[in-house]
Amino acid sequence: MQEDLLHGAISCTDIVQHFLFNIEKHKHLNAFLSVYDQEALAQAQVIDLKIKEGKAGKLAGLVVGIKDVLAYQNHPLQAASKILNGFHSLYTATAVQRLIDEDAIIIGRQNCDEFGMGSSNENSAFGPVRHALNPERVPGGSSGGSAVAVMADMCHISLGSDTGGSVRQPAAFCGIIGLKPTYSRISRHGLVAFGSSFDCVGLFGKCVEDVALVLSFIAGADEYDSTVSQQVVPDYVKALNDEQKFKVAYLPETIHNPALQAEIKQNMLDHIAALQAAGHIVEAVSLPFMEYSLPTYYILSTAEASANLSRYDGVRFGHRSKDAKDLTSLYRLSRSEGFGQEVKRRILLGTYVLSASYYDAYYAKAQKVRRLIREQTKALFTKYDVLLMPTTPTTAFPLGKNTSNPLEMYLADIYSVHANVAGIPGISVPCGIDRQALPIGLQVLADDFEEGKLLAFADVLLKLKEHA
Ligand code: GLN
Repeated sequence: MQEDLLHGAISCTDIVQHFLFNIEKHKHLNAFLSVYDQEALAQAQVIDLKIKEGKAGKLAGLVVGIKDVLAYQNHPLQAASKILNGFHSLYTATAVQRLIDEDAIIIGRQNCDEFGMGSSNENSAFGPVRHALNPERVPGGSSGGSAVAVMADMCHISLGSDTGGSVRQPAAFCGIIGLKPTYSRISRHGLVAFGSSFDCVGLFGKCVEDVALVLSFIAGADEYDSTVSQQVVPDYVKALNDEQKFKVAYLPETIHNPALQAEIKQNMLDHIAALQAAGHIVEAVSLPFMEYSLPTYYILSTAEASANLSRYDGVRFGHRSKDAKDLTSLYRLSRSEGFGQEVKRRILLGTYVLSASYYDAYYAKAQKVRRLIREQTKALFTKYDVLLMPTTPTTAFPLGKNTSNPLEMYLADIYSVHANVAGIPGISVPCGIDRQALPIGLQVLADDFEEGKLLAFADVLLKLKEHA
């Protein structure tokens, strides 16, 4: 497409119009909270001119949607929550700014679960996002709007956030690629905080090259985020061009899990056989601590969320209760009215695990377990390039199926939280469909800063599918 752009066969304006048409056509899916149509068209004109003058940036023609947790100056930012009603960003997130600097166009703000808390995108104050293949099913969450937007051709790339699987899980449900980089690979400046030691900006795309290209631009050191890694950012697109044979590990316990949908199990087994036939080494290994990843994640992420969300107090920004009589009731009422049910549940759980009587038993213990999980996982990568497992235990489930049972909903993250607990990168790759034609995603994990390897292996997986 970029070649066509540079040769004048198409224009940025054509591209933006194409996506605006699709956004309008798929309005019922509720993927976008704001569409910046006029701005995007105006920007397209500017970039078309730059192309003619040979001055365009390296991402000219790329159209990006951003999850409603990423700041974009002078644009609304709400984390799909009533508590941020009327709030506009005062600055732009680093990841977003770096795309704009290379002439990418931001087309809109995407619906998600409130503050990124959820696995089905049913926890948004603006109503659920619907799956593009079957509107009675969920797209996954929390970055559901971002996944559906790429799936239904409403933008090229979406930026989401992944604290416990919120990019990879909806990518699997929607049949697209979802990448969560290593913790600290991309600046969190301008990303609404949920669990700060887990939060990552992640990317959705339809092809590996696009994801690799965008990652090359948004990753890397940033003076606004002291936790971001100083490690040099490689050219991820170049890393794709090798014919490497991989050493792949898999965990039998993730395949022979009774909760795993039979077709996903078969898909995993078929891919293992196909990889072996193609000359890769694929071996069963054991990671006994993995069963503790989910409880560890839900203890630590709720603890961090309860602290992070204390800033929404009705005083400085967002929703302020009209019925407050004094300062205490201002806090209490503003928060009671502004937060949704799941967010309140997380704040309560987090406050509980941090409370004086339970701190040692839950929070401190989970921190120790997290360290062990990370060490055991990293040891595995001294012998193997990548770890292959399902992204999700099921394909996209019906709307409402898990809303009355939070534990059932949390189990949707059973395979995805591991990467966040260990801090390592993970990618979900579309690898087939089930009997109802719903997409199946397989997940690949690698060692810290091995995004190049992940993307190269994702390419291998996609090509296996093409040859199958
Ligand atoms: N579904 C997980 C949760 O509800 C992960 C969310 C996320 O990655 N933002 O916490």
